[in-house]
Amino acid sequence: PPPAFSPPFIAFVVYSCLHNMAGEQLRYDGQTVVVTGAGAGLGKAYALFYASRGANVVVNDLGGTFNGQGAGGNSAADKVVQEIKAAGGKAVANYDDVANGENIINTAIKNFGRIDVLINNAGILRDVSFKNMKDADWDIIMKVHVFGAYKCARAAWPHFKKQKYGRVINTASAAGLFGSFGQCNYSAAKLGLVGFTETLAKEGLKYNILCNVIAPIAASRLTATVMPPEVLEKLKPEWVVPLVGVLTHSSNDSETGSIFEVGGGHVAKLRWERAKGALLRADDTFTPSALLQKWNNVSDFSEPEHPSGVADFLGLLEAAQKLPANP
Ligand code: NAD
Repeated sequence: PPPAFSPPFIAFVVYSCLHNMAGEQLRYDGQTVVVTGAGAGLGKAYALFYASRGANVVVNDLGGTFNGQGAGGNSAADKVVQEIKAAGGKAVANYDDVANGENIINTAIKNFGRIDVLINNAGILRDVSFKNMKDADWDIIMKVHVFGAYKCARAAWPHFKKQKYGRVINTASAAGLFGSFGQCNYSAAKLGLVGFTETLAKEGLKYNILCNVIAPIAASRLTATVMPPEVLEKLKPEWVVPLVGVLTHSSNDSETGSIFEVGGGHVAKLRWERAKGALLRADDTFTPSALLQKWNNVSDFSEPEHPSGVADFLGLLEAAQKLPANP
């Protein structure tokens, strides 16, 4: 006869499966998570999430306005810490500019003795058309987004390496991936973070340091002026959290160096696509007009590759040598 399972056991199995499918069991007990720019918007949503799942959280935020005018005091970070503590969680505030990444990571080490997850999230905008861009608008965007992410990751790296465990999320933007009117400084910084992440992923792999980059879309003070309220209502920062939770969990043992678009319930991975390309004999018959004759191949995506490194130039060189002179 088939084995008989008691109704409570069946209920337990069904409950466990549903729970697992919903990701409810992803927890971070005993881990320390640093979230930069966690006083508002996406950062606050991450901080509340990790604390509710058992992590010690460093809530970093220097306060300040959306365009990085001055430090606004301690209240942004303090309020989030109070909210976490009121719910029974563990958190500590840090008010440093992300450019002082060492202090932020030291806050984690001093208070909790370790760091496991770094969410580079802090960000500001200085939107202005390219012809009106001032060096100060360019520099501050690079400083907060690129230098800030570098400084925090640089300070966390030795800890990750020593313990052979680390999870990093960097925050890009659609503006970086596709360009965006009036945001050349922000676009450059955000795509810079993609390259930064891809290199950290390659260097971190053997130490089990996994690094991914997200291009989120969510209602916050950064988007409040550019989107109508009915759209913003559907773009809760909380809808970005599940992806970040999955990527930074210890059960993720392979997803690294990836780019994700996420917001309003949509989560999708993006990747590079390389056209088959043209191959010309590399001698003095390789002229602009010879290239023009093969231009269709240069941009023919009918047989694409999805590379994670440069083309196989040695193989291509060999093949090119065997070609007849270009017409
Ligand atoms: P937000 O303004 O609500 O939150 C950003 C937080 O970062 C603020 O609390 C701010 O005080 C803090 N901050 C700014 N500069 C800092 C610094 N130098 N040091 C420490 N803290 C600092 O914005 P958000 O929308 O939640 O943005 C979070 C991240 O997501 C940013 O990197 C932003 O560029 C990126 N992003 C957001 C969207 C979106 O749709 N909201 C889209 C693409 C990218």
